[in-house]
Amino acid sequence: MPRSTRRPADVPGALALRRDRDRYAALQRAIGAVGFFRRGTLVRVYGRCGKPGCRCAADPPRLHGPYVQWTRKVAGKTVSVRVRPAQVRLFQEWIRNARRLDRLIARLQQLSLRATERILRQQSDPQRPAGRRPGRSSRPRRGG
Ligand SMILES: [Zn+2]
Repeated sequence: MPRSTRRPADVPGALALRRDRDRYAALQRAIGAVGFFRRGTLVRVYGRCGKPGCRCAADPPRLHGPYVQWTRKVAGKTVSVRVRPAQVRLFQEWIRNARRLDRLIARLQQLSLRATERILRQQSDPQRPAGRRPGRSSRPRRGG
């Protein structure tokens, strides 16, 4: 692509900011590619049915299970739902997606913080508004 015009904003800060924008866009695409998700975990549980005379009520008890449950927090409370064996793989995929989404959003947040810091720094630095002046006049620089 012939980008002949060297814009005055081509200072290191602006380059870094452009790189951050590219990374941001890439993360947004990655987030867009994440499929359906469910937060939570799968756990194996054993239980008692409560029927008198059942093996689960014997001494020692032989509990039923294992069963797979999908567990997550809802308004601070743990909520569990039984998962049928045929659905375990689906749940695993959805839970993986949720974790991936969380990781991507964490990276997005980190990147966004860095980029906005850069923007704020550029705005508050009188030496660098669009780089119109040759600069380096008042800022001490070695080797020049
Ligand atoms: Zn039982």
